[in-house]
Amino acid sequence: MEEWFQGLTSTNPQVARWPTLESRVVPATQHLLRLLRAGGVTATFFVLGAVADQHPALIEAIAAEGHEIGVHGYHHRFVYTLTPAAFDEELGRSTEAVMRITGAQPLGHRAPYFSVNAATPWAFERMAAHGLVYDSSVFPTRNMLYGFPGAPRLPYRVPGHNLWELPASTVRWAGRTWPMAGGFYVRALPYGVIRAALRRLQRAGEPAILYVHPWELDLGQRYSQVTARERVTHYWGRAGLAAKLEQMFDEFSFTTLRTLVAHLEQTAQPMASLSPVAEGRWAS
Ligand SMILES: [Zn+2]
Repeated sequence: MEEWFQGLTSTNPQVARWPTLESRVVPATQHLLRLLRAGGVTATFFVLGAVADQHPALIEAIAAEGHEIGVHGYHHRFVYTLTPAAFDEELGRSTEAVMRITGAQPLGHRAPYFSVNAATPWAFERMAAHGLVYDSSVFPTRNMLYGFPGAPRLPYRVPGHNLWELPASTVRWAGRTWPMAGGFYVRALPYGVIRAALRRLQRAGEPAILYVHPWELDLGQRYSQVTARERVTHYWGRAGLAAKLEQMFDEFSFTTLRTLVAHLEQTAQPMASLSPVAEGRWAS
């Protein structure tokens, strides 16, 4: 959960310019909350620290509806561009911002742009040090912006740390791993394809871990200085998204990631068995 200009990669680094860009996160999030309420869905909101500091009442309203509040860094930086110390500061500032509002220690973290990958082996240790018990930042396939091909597809305990990783969902089809985990994919793909992918996960007993941004539901944005790539990744297929979510919430049940972790702890069964190669990579 972030402002549209914090998510856009062109305006994200222009922090000094952020106050001059139109804030739209409150109405966009209220739209998402209405869809969730109508569908009887509880979700995890990974809140950007900068948004929490600007809009504490919005965070309170989300928590009051039974949703989980997790952290999403403070300035929405790609984790693999940060030093371990800078990542530590992002985590510290964002967990403190959330705790000032909810009074509770956030349990979960999602990296901006799913940017935890092979280049950030130090990230899990820093998360555990800030009291987090799970991370959901690994995207186990490649797309235009990010990805960690070869990473485990299913939830697992991070070797050497008391932390779960809950990767964004992918489906195995025709011998390949395909992304489908929400946001861009739900906007771009016909609903029938999303439904078939979710059913495929259900049949395999695998959780569907999906994301959506409030700004993806905001059809009223007037900013046009976006790059050709952003026109696709941030704007394509927005008009149909709310109807797809309504249908999805009608046909499937969802819950918070905190609940998924409690379930995994109970069954004490990581879903992905790490191959020796993957273990070596994660342990290093
Ligand atoms: Zn984000």
